[in-house]
Amino acid sequence: MSRRRAPICESKGTGENMPRIAIYPGSFDPVTNGHLDIVERGLKIFDKIIVAILHNPCKKALFSIQERKEMLADCLKQFPNVEIDTFDGLLVDYAAKRQAQGILRGLRALSDFDYEFQMALMNRRMNREIQTVFLMTGLRWIFTSSSIIKEAAQFGGDINGMVPPMVGRKLKEKFRHRP
Ligand code: ADP
Repeated sequence: MSRRRAPICESKGTGENMPRIAIYPGSFDPVTNGHLDIVERGLKIFDKIIVAILHNPCKKALFSIQERKEMLADCLKQFPNVEIDTFDGLLVDYAAKRQAQGILRGLRALSDFDYEFQMALMNRRMNREIQTVFLMTGLRWIFTSSSIIKEAAQFGGDINGMVPPMVGRKLKEKFRHRP
């Protein structure tokens, strides 16, 4: 007699008629074309993506939460099924509150993997209902990161094509007013 394996978890909220919602968390300081690439890819598998800016008082950011939110809203305005939000505290708690089944993360190089892997396992330990989904970035964005872009922009480097034009202008403005 064959024995049926028990399901890994009894999924709640993944019924056929439930919209598939993913949280895409991050600092987005500022949003780059790499981030936008992941949102577009994510929309092919999720019905709705909530781009969630982590409010982390320990991490010094260049742009305020409000500025980051406005930039994301502008860059993603053509997607009615993308929402921009902010959160603090545990990501899995926020995801459960928003009835999301997935956490979306982007992978660039192998260097991202170690940290992402640890974080995904930790999140799974805290809430087994929520799955982390990794999407590979487009090859063009493999070396694009908010921190590298900020460094380049600070010293007048060319960041054209790595961020949406509006974000490029905001970066220029930011550094013009800095000592
Ligand atoms: P964090 O502050 O947690 O590093 P970020 O705001 O930089 O977060 O990024 C949020 C998510 O977007 C992470 O999953 C990160 O791996 C991903 N990401 C950042 N830059 C790129 C890129 N160029 N291509 C694909 N994914 C990216």
